Amino acid sequence: EPALIPVAQHGVRREQLSPVARKVCTVLQEHGHKAFVVGGAVRDLLVGHPPKDYDVATSATPEEVRALFRRSRIIGRRFKIVHVMSGPETIEVSTFRASQVAESTETDEHGRVLRDNVFGSQAEDATRRDFTVNALYYDPTTEQIVDYHHGVADLKQKTLRIIGDPRARYREDPVRMLRGVRLGAKLGLTLDPAARHPIREMASLLENVPAARLFDEMLKLLFSGYALKCLEQLREEGLHHGLLPLLDVILEQPMGERFVRLALENTDERVRQDKSVSPGFLFATLLWHEVLGAWETRKRNGEHTQPALFAAMDDVLEAQAGKLAITRRIVGDIKEIWALQPRFDKCSGKTPYRLIEQPRYRAAWDFLRLRAQSGEIDLALPEWWDRFAHAGHDAREALLAEAT
Ligand code: ATP
Ligand code: MG
Repeated sequence: EPALIPVAQHGVRREQLSPVARKVCTVLQEHGHKAFVVGGAVRDLLVGHPPKDYDVATSATPEEVRALFRRSRIIGRRFKIVHVMSGPETIEVSTFRASQVAESTETDEHGRVLRDNVFGSQAEDATRRDFTVNALYYDPTTEQIVDYHHGVADLKQKTLRIIGDPRARYREDPVRMLRGVRLGAKLGLTLDPAARHPIREMASLLENVPAARLFDEMLKLLFSGYALKCLEQLREEGLHHGLLPLLDVILEQPMGERFVRLALENTDERVRQDKSVSPGFLFATLLWHEVLGAWETRKRNGEHTQPALFAAMDDVLEAQAGKLAITRRIVGDIKEIWALQPRFDKCSGKTPYRLIEQPRYRAAWDFLRLRAQSGEIDLALPEWWDRFAHAGHDAREALLAEAT
């Protein structure tokens, strides 16, 4: 039997929820279905974090949900869920599903679950979730939390505990190891020893996860606002090897580490201030010292500077592609930022005028400054460019004369 925790005890008022999420629940309930806000939003509200998005769990089937909301559509990625849209918001509504240990469940040869779309009871739905703090159901009508696995108590004690046997749950879905690290870093929770202990030996299971899913999870991690903390934790748990295959190498070069650290601090700060962040920029920084290494090697073998850089970029991106499917668009952004770097060395003639007109000039300059801040190049270079970019015509001519 689940614990029913009253609002007097947990303190989350229905007014704190997104009005759309509340509405979705009440409409479903008025039509005789069970419906709750579930997962990350409840967890975040309990610790005073503003929820990023809302998930609703219901006894209604996807088709029943679809029929109740005009602006909604059924989408089927790993399983069928319904997106209910209202204004800028999208609420994910999923039907209670059975736990994954059923014999009928399809798995790959490593035990990873391929399909889990069997409907079930609310209790089963709670049990198939990953962490106890993610298995809390908030009813906006009664303001009660339905808690099957002592999630509220775990959250109070700042513990991230896996539901069920950690090894079995990681085998079903190795991405849970990454989720544990990310949620722990974001919410200041400690991974329960039973959940933490098997990670080191099971980390290699991440190799069997499709590259696109891994990339999604890496994006969540890198743009959580706690990327630096996450990556430090990943390293501590021995989880970084399979992910960005080069991350371990990068983090072990002192110069690379300094550079990556600065880039991540910068990103975390922007995310927390709700400013836009670009995946291309961040991945460009994560892989830059690899490019530098490959570029050096090629130049030493007699290749010309510019073609050697382009070949080095391809080397690095190809080595990356098998493990982590960086999307094509992002690869384009990364290449643009890298390709502009050697052009900053030319502080004479007409080139500087053309460079500052490039659409990616600003990103490339930010990147250049990061290189200087990390000690790779002289700070005078980004400073010169900044003065040049902001000067009038005569001052620009003076700067060009000064540089040559
Ligand atoms: P956030 O949205 O802050 O990243 P979240 O916990 O809401 O965190 P989602 O990916 O939105 O993460 O997932 C919603 C809910 O679905 C989770 O709270 C959890 O209950 C369940 N869930 C997500 N991923 C898994 C998984 N790999 N295994 C089991 N349950 C999962
Ligand atoms: Mg969520």
